[in-house]
Amino acid sequence: MRAVGIDIGGSHAVCAVVEDQRILAAESLPVGGTSCLAGLLPALAANAARLLELCGLTAGGCDGVAVSFPGIVDPFAGRILSTPEGKYDDAGLLDLGRWSRECFGLPLRIENDVRMALLGERYCGAVQGCDDAVMVTLGTGVGGAVLAGGRLFRGKHLQAGFGGHLPVLFHGRACICGSRGCVEAEASTWALPEICRAWPDQVLPFLEQYIHVHAWTPWGKVRVLPAAMGPDAGLLGAVPLLAEPC
Ligand SMILES: [Zn+2]
Repeated sequence: MRAVGIDIGGSHAVCAVVEDQRILAAESLPVGGTSCLAGLLPALAANAARLLELCGLTAGGCDGVAVSFPGIVDPFAGRILSTPEGKYDDAGLLDLGRWSRECFGLPLRIENDVRMALLGERYCGAVQGCDDAVMVTLGTGVGGAVLAGGRLFRGKHLQAGFGGHLPVLFHGRACICGSRGCVEAEASTWALPEICRAWPDQVLPFLEQYIHVHAWTPWGKVRVLPAAMGPDAGLLGAVPLLAEPC
């Protein structure tokens, strides 16, 4: 299966042509000054068209467009429900499926960025072959996603598994979401990913040991693994997302 993958972030977006477990071509473009998603779409379309040409392909040679987005997403309706504060405020008004059909003649699927990364890690990364997995991403924010019984756990309001806004300190710091003491408000910092990269051998075994001691898992031991696909994971989620029944 072949896909146009688009990974939209807060500071940049990446377009790619993905074929099964390989990224054939990819290009990043900065979105720093762009506050509306509609303004970014022409550049994304041009970028994707250029990459397809580079690969000697046309949009007709792809099965669909898969978009990874950092917000609350309804993957069944193909809509963005809520966005990070001050970023892409117009996203909920956009019909991205229509945009994809008009630009590429292809169907579009969209999913939250952390869930896309988990799909990618399961498809060809650290949890390949696992039907039950939890992913935690550490960056500007703290993200979480859950795979249960081989399916993404989304929940009624499509927020299941989001770890960043779980309160961990009752009288903690005010959070951007309106709550207090959220994981993001207490632990999210530009330094945290750097610390984890610098100390992977210390951090992960500590976490694993802590879970082994404190979690009630009579069936065995939970494994804690570093993600294997890095920033490519969200793009490599494109094929399994398109293959997932609507
Ligand atoms: Zn919060």
